[in-house]
Amino acid sequence: MADYDIAILGAGPAGLTAALYAGRSRLKVAVLERGVPGGQAATTERIENYPGFPGGISGLELAERMEKHAREFGAEFIPAEATGLEVNSGREGGFIIRHGEAGEGSSGFTSRTVIVATGTKEKALGVPGEKEFRGRGVSYCATCDGAFFREKEVAVVGGGDSAVEEALYLTKHANRVYVIHRRNQLRANKILQERAFHNDKIRFLWETVVLRIEGAEGGFVERLRLKNVRSGEESELKVDGVFIYVGQIPNTAFLKGFLALDDEGYVTTDEDLETSVKGVFAAGDVRRKKLRQVSTAVGDGALAAMSATRYLE
Ligand code: NAP
Repeated sequence: MADYDIAILGAGPAGLTAALYAGRSRLKVAVLERGVPGGQAATTERIENYPGFPGGISGLELAERMEKHAREFGAEFIPAEATGLEVNSGREGGFIIRHGEAGEGSSGFTSRTVIVATGTKEKALGVPGEKEFRGRGVSYCATCDGAFFREKEVAVVGGGDSAVEEALYLTKHANRVYVIHRRNQLRANKILQERAFHNDKIRFLWETVVLRIEGAEGGFVERLRLKNVRSGEESELKVDGVFIYVGQIPNTAFLKGFLALDDEGYVTTDEDLETSVKGVFAAGDVRRKKLRQVSTAVGDGALAAMSATRYLE
C-alpha cells in the first residue's frame, strides 16, 4: 500500500488549499515543503487583492492561517525539498517522491497521486557583481532585507507588480528608492503605478538597464553601472543596495524529462489540472497560466485536489 493517497509538493497557497480539500475528502495527505509554508505569499508584506480581507492582510498571517487550516483536516507536513518524481513500478503502483535533505542522500515515500505546487523563484538579472554581492547589498526579498537599508538609498530593478510593490515597501525604510526599468512603461497594475508615481521617495529611471553591480572587494554594494537603452549613454548610480525583480522561474528542474513542461519550464495541464502523466496534477504559479495571484492559486489547489480525488475513485 502506498504511504499516502495524495502527495502535495509545495506549501504555498495552491498546495495548502489542495491539502485542505484533500483532507476534507478524508484522504491521507502529505505536504512536502523545503521552507516556511506560505510560499512567496509569506514574504509579501501586505496582500490587498485576496477577497475577504478589506484593508489587506499580512502575507505571513495569511500563510499561517492557510497552514493551520490545512493541518486542521489532517495534512502531514514533511520538511524537505522534492528532488525527483518517478512512477512506482512496484505492485501498488502510484509514484515515488524523492526528497533529499542536504547530505542525507535520496530518501523517498510513495503516493497514489501527486499534486505539483512548487511555485516559482525570482529570476537572476545575470550581470557582473550580482553573485558576488548577494547578501551584501544584492537582494531578491524586500520584506526580508528592507530593514537593513534604513535611511539609505536603494535601487529596484524591474517594472512588474513585484518590482513596484516592493519599491513601495522599501520607502518605509530607505530615504530614496530608484526603480530601474528597461522600458518607458510599467507592467505593474494601475493601482501600484499610481501609488508609486505619487511617492516622493521613488524616482524612476526609464529605458535603463544595469550593466554591473560594483563595490569594494569583500565589502558591500556601492554603485551601479547603468546604460540608457535609447541613447546608449552610460552612467553611475550610488546606492547601498539593489533589489532584483525581473520575473520568475518555475521550480521544476526536478521534473524535467518526467512531465511535459513549456519552453519556460512551466508545467502544462489540461482544464482539470492534470499533467502529461496520469495521476499527477499541477496547481498554482508553477503551472502555465495567464494570471498568477494568491486567488488563482487557491482556485487551482481546490480543483487539483478534486481532480486527484476523482482519479483515486
Ligand atoms: P513579471 O510580471 O514577469 O515582471 C518582470 C519585470 O522585469 C518586467 O517589467 C520586465 O520588463 C522586467 N525584466 C525582465 N527581464 C529583465 C531583464 N533582463 N532586465 C531588466 N528588466 C527585466 O514578474 P513579477 O513582477 O515578479 O510578477 C510575477 C507574477 O506574479 C505576475 O503574474 C504578477 O502579476 C504576479 N504578482 C502579483 C502581485 C499582486 O497582484 N500584487 C504581486 C507580485 C507579483 P518588461 O516589462 O519590459 O518585460
